Amino acid sequence: MLNFVFLGPPGSGKGTQSAKLIEDFGFIHLSTGDIFRAELKSGSPLGLEAKGYLDSGQLVPDEVVVRMIEQKLDANAHNAGYIFDGFPRTQVQAEALDALLESKGMPLNQVLLLEVPDAILRERLTERAKTSGRSDDANPEIIEKRIRVYQQETLPLTDYYSKQEKLSRVPGVGHIDEIYARIRIALSI
Ligand code: AMP
Repeated sequence: MLNFVFLGPPGSGKGTQSAKLIEDFGFIHLSTGDIFRAELKSGSPLGLEAKGYLDSGQLVPDEVVVRMIEQKLDANAHNAGYIFDGFPRTQVQAEALDALLESKGMPLNQVLLLEVPDAILRERLTERAKTSGRSDDANPEIIEKRIRVYQQETLPLTDYYSKQEKLSRVPGVGHIDEIYARIRIALSI
């Protein structure tokens, strides 16, 4: 079992690269953003609770996110490993994930940081808006907000995971397959 976290700003390619890893290695993908969007689409109470945060580019409160991840981990007890994509995004979430995995006797093996300059993120998100249907991709102000929230709340997790000696930095610029090859090398798979 290989469990790892994909850290990286919005538009860094975490979702794209996760899809390739899932196809090749059978990981289970836990993308909190995807889960919130699915809940929103189905009109569930959780989706409605998250809507305002997603629309404005702010983070959904930690306790809501952590509760959701707890349920998803329970639902898939046996598998090849988890990709945590877009989670954790705060120190509180990172500590909660450590505690949760420890309580289940599961390791967090590694944390990959996909590094992409802000100017390229803006271009990618604006381009993605044409097909994603995501209102948070279509609005430049919301894009800026998400990049800022990432820098303030999530980027400090690199220290948290460096101290645990789990962090690998992967340049996220270049051809998709080239980046994928770097990720496989970083994960030794
Ligand atoms: P993403 O698809 O990862 O870009 O996430 C889209 C939106 O979902 C974010 O802007 C947040 O509003 C919300 N979200 C996703 N993951 C988290 C998380 N781990 N903590 C808080 N909010 C989250």
